[in-house]
Amino acid sequence: MSLSRPELIKPEIAGIAEYVPGKSIEDIARKYGLDPASIIKLGSNENVLGPSQKAVEAIEAHSGKVNIYPSSDASELVEAISAYTGFPAGNICASGPGMDGLLDNLMRLLISTGDEIILPVPTFSYYEVAARANGAIPVHVNLNTDLSLDADAVMKAESSRTKVIFLCSPNNPTGKQVAEEDLRRILEHTRGLVFVDEAYVEFSDHNFSHLVNEYDNIIIGRTLSKAFGLAGMRLGYGIMPAWLKQQYMKIATPFSISVPSIVAGVAALSDSAHLQKSILCAREGRDFFSKNIPFKVYESQANFVLVDVSPFKSKDVVEIFLKKGIIIRDCRSFKGAGDSFVRVTVGTGVQNEKVVEVFEEISAQV
Ligand SMILES: *Cc1c(COP(=O)(O)O)cnc(C)c1O
Repeated sequence: MSLSRPELIKPEIAGIAEYVPGKSIEDIARKYGLDPASIIKLGSNENVLGPSQKAVEAIEAHSGKVNIYPSSDASELVEAISAYTGFPAGNICASGPGMDGLLDNLMRLLISTGDEIILPVPTFSYYEVAARANGAIPVHVNLNTDLSLDADAVMKAESSRTKVIFLCSPNNPTGKQVAEEDLRRILEHTRGLVFVDEAYVEFSDHNFSHLVNEYDNIIIGRTLSKAFGLAGMRLGYGIMPAWLKQQYMKIATPFSISVPSIVAGVAALSDSAHLQKSILCAREGRDFFSKNIPFKVYESQANFVLVDVSPFKSKDVVEIFLKKGIIIRDCRSFKGAGDSFVRVTVGTGVQNEKVVEVFEEISAQV
């Protein structure tokens, strides 16, 4: 009997590399013989202050009601997002699991086999997975040497098959925002759609959602995983032109956001005190990192910083951190990032001081 039937898998999937997530506390505790409670997790850009207490209470209050389906389109959550963003519900799609679920639905809606997507790299890797699974051909464009977007290169990469251009602002893993002038040029030049990923926008100086009122080919992706501290609830949303939402709703997976997630999202969106505290923590921490880490730290608009650990290799630096119970991200898994970048999530004050101490010990070895 055959135990494997690879020929049953559609050919588009063959070249897709396995997704590399940040390391979990359980993995590291086991591998290095550490107490899980002592591990500091700064590898996945989660909110180190925890979730909003209001969200926790909402989840608890609804735990006895999970025998009933949620609303199919999470309309209560869409209303809360509408109040938070100022956009009417007709421009908003709530998504689960997370913004990744929004990307999956959009790719199912937009991509036919052979369509091209443009990806400035290094960037978040799931765009490519979601698009290729639907038959897209990725076209990679390098960032400028200072890691800013090369808008001219993006426009040059455009072809008659271009369907979606992915721009991440602030970009993961660089922390840099796109310039509005560049974004406008790209929106006006392309025959396709521009997906602007604003997963970290709450930590930054500006956002691009107002462009949804001006252009009919922009989609803003957002998440409650980062600033709102709800990564475990898997909540995202898109702000998009009304014509696109109408099409999107035809194919969006119904009931994809669970009852606990909906109530947690609604509660978290109303807890502006927790949001403000989280933003302040990220801003103070990234300033502390740029002043005190004895390597090149790129200026960041997010809750993490990118560090160039040259002349060391990122894999050795990450290993030194792991042995001390601190998880940071080796950026070798980002296409085009080379082998000397690490990404560090901003922690609490005490955690940030420990991070700086380890970087100081490493730099002393030069
Ligand atoms: C974390 C992250 C996401 C994913 O968000 P989820 O809502 O948790 O799926 C999307 N884009 C970027 C750039 C991210 O860093």
